[in-house]
Amino acid sequence: MTANDDRAGERAMAVENLRKFLDAEIEPAFRSHGERFIPKETMGEWTRALGEFGLTRAPFAERWGGFDMGWLAQLMLFEEVVYTSLDVAIPGFINAVGAKLIETLGTDEMKERYLADVIAGRSFVSFGISEPDVGSDVAAVRTRAVRDGDHWVLNGEKTWITNGEYSDFFICTCRTGENEISHILIDRHEHGYEVRGIPKMALNGQSTAQIFLSDVRVPLANTVGALGKGLVNTLKLFELARCHMAIWGVGIARRALDESIRYSKERKQHGKVIAGHQLIAEKIATMATHVEAARLLTHAAIAKVESGARADKECAMAKWYGTEMAVKVCRDAVEIHGGNGVTKEFVVERLARESIINPIPDGTTEIQKLLIARALTGVQAFR
Ligand SMILES: Cc1cc2nc3c(=O)[nH]c(=O)nc-3n(C[C@H](O)[C@H](O)[C@H](O)COP(=O)(O)OP(=O)(O)OC[C@H]3O[C@@H](n4cnc5c(N)ncnc54)[C@H](O)[C@@H]3O)c2cc1C
Repeated sequence: MTANDDRAGERAMAVENLRKFLDAEIEPAFRSHGERFIPKETMGEWTRALGEFGLTRAPFAERWGGFDMGWLAQLMLFEEVVYTSLDVAIPGFINAVGAKLIETLGTDEMKERYLADVIAGRSFVSFGISEPDVGSDVAAVRTRAVRDGDHWVLNGEKTWITNGEYSDFFICTCRTGENEISHILIDRHEHGYEVRGIPKMALNGQSTAQIFLSDVRVPLANTVGALGKGLVNTLKLFELARCHMAIWGVGIARRALDESIRYSKERKQHGKVIAGHQLIAEKIATMATHVEAARLLTHAAIAKVESGARADKECAMAKWYGTEMAVKVCRDAVEIHGGNGVTKEFVVERLARESIINPIPDGTTEIQKLLIARALTGVQAFR
């Protein structure tokens, strides 16, 4: 047995244990709750329980309550939770990526104060770039932090902020000078900010919100990373976030595939189960192959991220492919279910709505393609 075999065995075991817990506890709880907003207390309880199985804890050092298993393990565990419920999976994803930002760039005081709690799911983090007029063009951020003695005074509006309503603290990407973008940590309980939820076509169980900053005073010591490095640091963090977005696609597509396999073996038309019709068989074979390909692409991307090498091209490929293949696979799953596929009685209806959201956050498909082409040609085609 090599060390690599040990790590693979450890990951497989973690996935198996989590799967049992999800099937026994989270699947029925989510089913009976439905797609209504999950209150912070319940989401906290579920996120902490999932954390005990490795979600959020897997990639972090033991001194912060982590399991030291790496980001591949985190993605494998994330896939399992997405398979059961994307609403339940998302807060843990944001906590893991937010914790990575603090672990890499935060001061010792920030780490002591926030890291263990956010990794365990005892608190929630949000991070925000997007604003009403700032989407794909992240460098256009307008939210401003102006220095006043030993404090920043922040004003602006952020939108589409995942975990917003749950958040105990918020890592805000803002302008600290005319040509200077930085990250500032705002503690909701200490410094305050106003939050308003955004209703969506799906994923209303978890929180996507607007955050309003009106003369919010925050100590200069809450600057995360070097001043003026906010954009570079955000782009680096996107690599990790995009791998999660890709696995979000893999998780829901795998569920759509399993639901389709089950249904196609039960439903009979023209004298036999529909799985026995060649065009349905072709759909299932194609769906399964796309799911496997997206997972392999993402696992290769995360291996490159973990090696420390620049991985923007690989993560963009994984994000584009994983999220778009899920739209296609979930649509095929609805087709396989026929009329039943558009009813609330069948899971594929929800999956199809969730899949459509998937390509948008952390850079749309168009933006991923521009990133891939720029990496290949050295020529940027953004503007
Ligand atoms: C569910 C959800 C959760 C989110 N969570 C967060 C979060 O936690 N934090 C956060 O900061 N943001 C978050 N976002 C925001 C997300 O990152 C943005 O929505 C995304 O980057 C796109 O920006 P936009 O919506 O303003 O679209 P726009 O940038 O206005 O784009 C509109 C269309 O134009 C296309 N387009 C734009 N520029 C170009 C170009 N140069 N070439 C070709 N096509 C182009 C886009 O691809 C898109 O099709 C979230 C969004 C959603 C839907």
